[in-house]
Amino acid sequence: MIPAPVGGTGPALEARVWSVPLRTRFRGIDVRDGVLVRGPAGWGEFSPFWDYDDAESRRWWAAAVEAAVEGWPAPLRSSVPVNVTVPAVDAERAHAIVSASGCRTAKVKVAEPGQSPADDLARVEAVRDALGPAGAIRVDANAAWDVDTAVARIGELDRVGLEYVEQPCATLEQLVALRRRIDVRIAADEVVRRSADPLRVDLREACDVVVLKVQPLGGVRAALRVADAHGLPCVVSSALESSVGIAAGVALAAALPELPFACGLATVALFADDVTSSPLLPVDGALPVVRPEPDRLAEAAADADTDARWRARLDAVRA
Ligand SMILES: [Mg+2]
Repeated sequence: MIPAPVGGTGPALEARVWSVPLRTRFRGIDVRDGVLVRGPAGWGEFSPFWDYDDAESRRWWAAAVEAAVEGWPAPLRSSVPVNVTVPAVDAERAHAIVSASGCRTAKVKVAEPGQSPADDLARVEAVRDALGPAGAIRVDANAAWDVDTAVARIGELDRVGLEYVEQPCATLEQLVALRRRIDVRIAADEVVRRSADPLRVDLREACDVVVLKVQPLGGVRAALRVADAHGLPCVVSSALESSVGIAAGVALAAALPELPFACGLATVALFADDVTSSPLLPVDGALPVVRPEPDRLAEAAADADTDARWRARLDAVRA
């Protein structure tokens, strides 16, 4: 048991470390792991990626405490439309992933290391073929391009018709310059969630859509404040959580006053296993607003080394 929240006040939380292999390498990792904590309001997830330092991970911890101690605001809808997420796989695999998903919107990773522009174009063309003309395709470049490269690549990829391009360049200034040169909408992700103050980052002229992620922004309520501060259409995406963490993203999407786009919350499909026997996988392109019970924590338990690393990380973040 660990005391919570920071400072040792409040109820004690049970902590369980989980680890699950991914079906396909994604974001440079093959295994996803993290901690689930249980408090009076239910289970919360703390799973900052290993390349995040303790300072940045504190917001992720705040999200776990909110879920376990407070719970979430009341939902305004009972289900949330979601996109299928397509990793940087070959065209044939991309087609199969989209076809099997039942989703009508696809988010396609592009500009990953080791991938050529031709690989990216073949992937989005295969996704368009699988979705048909009525489907929506968005791409995520994870800040990989400079402005000129982004103009060229987005021009090529938009042959299939893009709903928006997520974080094509790294900085706000680059996004402003790019947005003047392209017609495709820009969605801001890293530039919001990794900024020192996501409420005050100046998104005017830089983007058309804001990507909200519960853990990186410090919880459902904190993410709702970010949405309110910017007054732009929002999409909720996951940070590749287990179904317990995904439920927080669904709670955020369900609580947003408006939800004009499908959300990036179907990423449990990238997992080879989960902490629950009721995983949050899309049915007919949507996820229900539920809190899954993690009844497979024994099967998904991390090995002793990973368990120790996470408990040390928890101590550091809560210090
Ligand atoms: Mg992104």
